[in-house]
Amino acid sequence: MPSNKDRRPANNPATRIGYGFDSHEFRSGIPLKIGGISLAHDKGLGGHSDGDVLLHAVTDALLGAVAAPDIGALFPPSDSRWKGADSAVFLREALKRVREAGYGVANMDASLILSAPKIGPHSAAIRERIAQLLGVGVDCVGLKAKTPEGLNLENAAIAHVVVLLEKRSSPKKPRKKNE
Ligand SMILES: [Zn+2]
Repeated sequence: MPSNKDRRPANNPATRIGYGFDSHEFRSGIPLKIGGISLAHDKGLGGHSDGDVLLHAVTDALLGAVAAPDIGALFPPSDSRWKGADSAVFLREALKRVREAGYGVANMDASLILSAPKIGPHSAAIRERIAQLLGVGVDCVGLKAKTPEGLNLENAAIAHVVVLLEKRSSPKKPRKKNE
């Protein structure tokens, strides 16, 4: 049995880590949005809302860091309100929950896996937009883009994101389970 000295308050450690993953399929004839930026391409990402695979993974990383319900539970794809919605709405709600839990974002890092379009020319704009949404400096937003070598996933876009939160204040009254 650990002594009281070894025991830390489980609900508000000094830092918390969050991890988010998402994938979407490319479809012809719809606009492409990645990291809150519209990219010129002949295909867009289908599925939930505007299909912004990167903002979805950031949102899930934030929610996961404070052990909140995930993006699919908070914003079910079956709810017509979220059809074509700007995914920044989801990120803002996740950030609100982070702040209510008494935390702020220290930094985040993302890997984006897709065969096209090239992300390099848009990387600065995407990082700036995400930094703005998270309320952090652009030097606290990492973004690497990779092509899916050997994965046979030419028609998919995949995002992996980690976020680090740091304690900023006392948590507000906890939400009820699954609220
Ligand atoms: Zn998604």
